[in-house]
Amino acid sequence: MSIDLNGRLALVTGASRGIGYFLALELAKAGAHVIAVARTVGGLEELDDEIRKHGGSATLVPLDLTDFPALDRLGGSIHERWGKLDIMVANAGVLGTISPIGHVEAKTFEKVMNINVTSTWRLIRSVDPLLRASDAGRAIVLSSGVAHTARAFWGPYAASKAAVEVMARSWADETKNSALRVNSVNPGATRTAMRAQAMPGEDPDSLPHPHDVAKKIVALADPALTLTGKLFDVPKDRFLDYHLPD
Ligand code: NDP
Repeated sequence: MSIDLNGRLALVTGASRGIGYFLALELAKAGAHVIAVARTVGGLEELDDEIRKHGGSATLVPLDLTDFPALDRLGGSIHERWGKLDIMVANAGVLGTISPIGHVEAKTFEKVMNINVTSTWRLIRSVDPLLRASDAGRAIVLSSGVAHTARAFWGPYAASKAAVEVMARSWADETKNSALRVNSVNPGATRTAMRAQAMPGEDPDSLPHPHDVAKKIVALADPALTLTGKLFDVPKDRFLDYHLPD
């Protein structure tokens, strides 16, 4: 089912490749103007070309999400330029290294936490007033199945995903009486650079393409969505309820 996002403004982090790239494309195809955030300018420009081909529009924001003061300013800049924000997708993430938890280097742990958790919180803090002001604010936070299962050697990444998911649920509870809907997503194993890094021996063709995964996730941006505080599990194609009562 296609959704109508004409006139909506959407911010997507990690839009230079993988799931974020195709999420940004799908949001733009549905009519949203997309603010595309990532470090790799080439990837953002490729996205811009693709969005234009489909008659959409984007604003490219080359930014390292560990530049926290820049994230603090982002909400204000969006307010100044557009006066609003309807959709935020916190998608950017890193895996770190796969190793026994006792062998993880401090700088790796800090990097994973900074990008996956702290930058998401800084972004939430920066754009929360704008999303609350929207008549159909939608926040989508990328989690992972490893936030709910035990997987040896994935400690920092798994902990970071559990953290952002719980943070999203707290935010959903705080905002449940507003028009803002906040949900997390487990995309499941997807054919991207991150997955190839995690599972070098795996045949990428055996995995779903990020475009197909993005087509399912984009439903969480639907202005008609009522659910909040849930986890949408792409492989199961349904919402899982990890606590918030209806
Ligand atoms: P990719 O590695 O393909 O893409 C990651 C994106 O994050 C890139 O656009 C990258 O952009 C951006 N990013 C990373 N670090 C920074 C930074 N410091 N500043 C700005 N942007 C940054 O990952 P996926 O598409 O696979 O993953 C997307 C999300 O889905 C992640 O949160 C991941 O944890 C989650 N996920 C993925 C699964 C999979 O199987 N692929 C499974 C479960 C969850 P750039 O390098 O240009 O800055």
